[in-house]
Amino acid sequence: MKGPEPDDGWFWTGAISDDGYGRFWVKRDAGQQSVRPQRYAIELATGQVLAASTPLLHSCDIPICVHADADLQPSHVVPGTHPENMLDRFQRGRYRNRYTLRLGVLPRPVRVQRSLDLRAVILDHGWHPELISAALLGVEFSHPRLF
Ligand SMILES: [Zn+2]
Repeated sequence: MKGPEPDDGWFWTGAISDDGYGRFWVKRDAGQQSVRPQRYAIELATGQVLAASTPLLHSCDIPICVHADADLQPSHVVPGTHPENMLDRFQRGRYRNRYTLRLGVLPRPVRVQRSLDLRAVILDHGWHPELISAALLGVEFSHPRLF
């Protein structure tokens, strides 16, 4: 699901792996292969297949965000092979937006739960900025009064 603003996240709503990131399976010559949606998205956008060793930088730090653009300025996902100035931009956090959080550094079970909550919000409510922010902040969802 894509947010309405150009710098919004595009959130994966398919299967979520036990590390909090999305995952899906494709048939290849060697059989089933697991694919990371954010890698797939940037490969699709740029038309270039990434080497398995190429790390991806994720400017918004939301594991299920797959906002990939061939133009790397608006892209949230950028191959780690890009020039220094691009890496620098990410490290300085100049590309953060209103949903940006350091989810990547959360303990794994918390990160997984945030990803699941975020996906649930999107599937149940569509693009709802307040609920998305709440899910990212880890607001308790069993508390109906919040809504
Ligand atoms: Zn993003």
